[in-house]
Amino acid sequence: MYDIVIIGAGPAGASAAIFTAKAGKKTLVFDNGKGMTKRAWFENYYGITEIGGPDLVDTGKQQAVRLGAEMKEETVQNVSRIEGGLSVVTDQGIYEAKHVLLATGALADLAEHIGVQTKPGTEPRIKTIVDVNAAGRTSIEGVWAAGTVAGVSVHAVITAGDGAKAAINIISELNGERYVDHDVLKA
Ligand SMILES: Cc1cc2nc3c(=O)[nH]c(=O)nc-3n(C[C@H](O)[C@H](O)[C@H](O)COP(=O)(O)OP(=O)(O)OC[C@H]3O[C@@H](n4cnc5c(N)ncnc54)[C@H](O)[C@@H]3O)c2cc1C
Repeated sequence: MYDIVIIGAGPAGASAAIFTAKAGKKTLVFDNGKGMTKRAWFENYYGITEIGGPDLVDTGKQQAVRLGAEMKEETVQNVSRIEGGLSVVTDQGIYEAKHVLLATGALADLAEHIGVQTKPGTEPRIKTIVDVNAAGRTSIEGVWAAGTVAGVSVHAVITAGDGAKAAINIISELNGERYVDHDVLKA
């Protein structure tokens, strides 16, 4: 069983995977290549002067894999509760996880299908979002949401931060204590 399955490898999902994989959590990420970030050009991402969307997304995925995340090009079709966790059904298989993070960007169809509580979006062109609490929890136990699908401002640095926030909360829950990941500059 995976500690966490992340659905979506845009800034929100890949950022979450970087944290969970680096924390030693068994992390599986699904992405079906339909993200909005690949169409963007960025000049407002903190610490990066300018970068194309495809480069940003590819670098984020590579960073997550380098730190231990598994990445699969599959479309997630359903998520449901099973004893002790969640079942994740894709177009190619069935997987089990303790936690699932929805990071599906502008696409809320999966969230609606699995039955998490949704509400109208407030950002331009984002019609439906998942109703999450401040931690990123949805109405289904073990299912979390982050990034555009969770209703944050549609900017990459914000969606990436929101994914990291949810990941830190999930890691903290798995560990039973508050988690912090600070590396120190080597002299
Ligand atoms: C043309 C354009 C220009 C933009 N310019 C800027 C800019 O200059 N600055 C800025 O900050 N922001 C910009 N943005 C917005 C920015 O791209 C988003 O705010 C943000 O990066 C979205 O991140 P996300 O991870 O929430 O979603 P996404 O990047 O959309 O990622 C969601 C991922 O989920 C995957 N997915 C969805 N459903 C499933 C499923 N069922 N199974 C498997 N995978 C699934 C998709 O394939 C996708 O890869 C721009 C957006 C566009 C469209």
